[in-house]
Amino acid sequence: MKAAPAAQKRLLDLAELDSVVDRLAHRRRTLPELAEIDELSAKVARLATQVIAAETEAGDLAREQAKAEADVDAVRVRAERDQKRLDSGQVSSPKDLASLQSEIASLHRRQSDLEEVVLEIMERREAADAQATKLSAERDELATTRGGAEDRRDAAFAEIDKEAGEAKGKRATITADIPADLLALYDKLRDQFGVGAAMLQGGRCLGCRTSLSIAEINRIKAASHEEVIRCEECRRILVRTPESGL
Ligand SMILES: [Zn+2]
Repeated sequence: MKAAPAAQKRLLDLAELDSVVDRLAHRRRTLPELAEIDELSAKVARLATQVIAAETEAGDLAREQAKAEADVDAVRVRAERDQKRLDSGQVSSPKDLASLQSEIASLHRRQSDLEEVVLEIMERREAADAQATKLSAERDELATTRGGAEDRRDAAFAEIDKEAGEAKGKRATITADIPADLLALYDKLRDQFGVGAAMLQGGRCLGCRTSLSIAEINRIKAASHEEVIRCEECRRILVRTPESGL
């Protein structure tokens, strides 16, 4: 392939610009905020699940408490009814009286036991409520922290995208100076190796940092200035400049 030396030199400007574009893309992919956001999102999701579990438990206990309180009421009503019968003097047989008094005593014991159950459920419910409140607060705090990280990420993205947009504009100006076949070769090599063209400086390829052999240098010296030279080592386009050491 042949191309005007000036067009070949433009490849170096293009390679420099493309390395800026690559650095920007790399920075965009590896922003520390991205890992931070992922980590915080995982924590927020885990806490959200724990909040639901605690709220579900508190809800179950609220229903259990209502049922236990209804049981207490039922026993209390029965004991009051029996007490009224006893107080009314309508029960006269000593055997029936003894039986009624025994039932009242038994109902009072039962009520007391059930009240213990209610208290125990209330304690567990309060603990579950407190746990749900604590976990909700932790979740909200982490969500706020994540919001801050998202803001920083978006600001960084905006800055990177602005620079990338500027680079794209410059790239169009540079590629306008390069013939299509040379640009196609450069782009193909860039896809393959990341960098498509490198300067030959002091007998060395700056793409792969390899010093060229005397034979290779002589071959390049003998070639016309229009000839597009490739590095034997890394296959990149070697651009000759006054610093090439030829
Ligand atoms: Zn090379």
